Amino acid sequence: MEDEYVLERERMVEEQIAARGLRDPRLLAAFESVPRHLFVPEDMRHLAYADGPLPIGFGQTISQPYIVALMTDLLKLKGTERVLEVGTGSGYQAAILAHMAAEVHTVEIIPELAARAEKVLRELGLENVHCHLGDGSLGWDEAAPYDGILVAAAAPDVPETLLNQLSDGARLVLPVGGRGFQELECWERRGKKFKRRAITPVAFVPLRGKHGWGGG
Ligand code: SAM
Repeated sequence: MEDEYVLERERMVEEQIAARGLRDPRLLAAFESVPRHLFVPEDMRHLAYADGPLPIGFGQTISQPYIVALMTDLLKLKGTERVLEVGTGSGYQAAILAHMAAEVHTVEIIPELAARAEKVLRELGLENVHCHLGDGSLGWDEAAPYDGILVAAAAPDVPETLLNQLSDGARLVLPVGGRGFQELECWERRGKKFKRRAITPVAFVPLRGKHGWGGG
């Protein structure tokens, strides 16, 4: 699909993603085909391909392209998987996952954001994305288990509920830590055991809900 942002998008992929070491051709192709500018508020479209996060309203953000790419890459998707995203936000990460996996479930707690993201995803014809409204700190039991789970908001600790919704060999990628900065963690299920790897420091908005900040 040609649009006025094609060149900016190509530059984003080259300079922000490939040049930083993420070179999976499927990943790069996904970032080249998803029109990020459609996921940001209209008055920010000129900044859509910049190297950083952007506000999307309700105190929330669309993550920096490189962080979306890094978290996606850590899931090691082949294209056949069913994946869960917690924190739909703008829907951009879900659109990238739609190109990398067979089936995507994404959960958002703020109704207005969930509705807006679903509309953009529908307009793009991404029919393998299923949008849900609710507390994603509980995962999304109806479609579990998942071959990958990605959490786009910072949790105080890794929610056991999410680990339990992983299939064997699957990975959970999430930021863990307090307000401000956190550590990006990658958990892998091996039978009844879970192996944790710390990846890099990140800065995410807090996860709300039962297993987020504030509980309840
Ligand atoms: N992945 C998003 C994107 O591509 O635009 C960015 C997500 S933004 C950094 C984090 C999102 O997580 C916000 O939209 C926020 O409302 C949502 N969120 C926070 N706690 C949540 C919860 N318990 N369940 C579902 N969504 C939650």
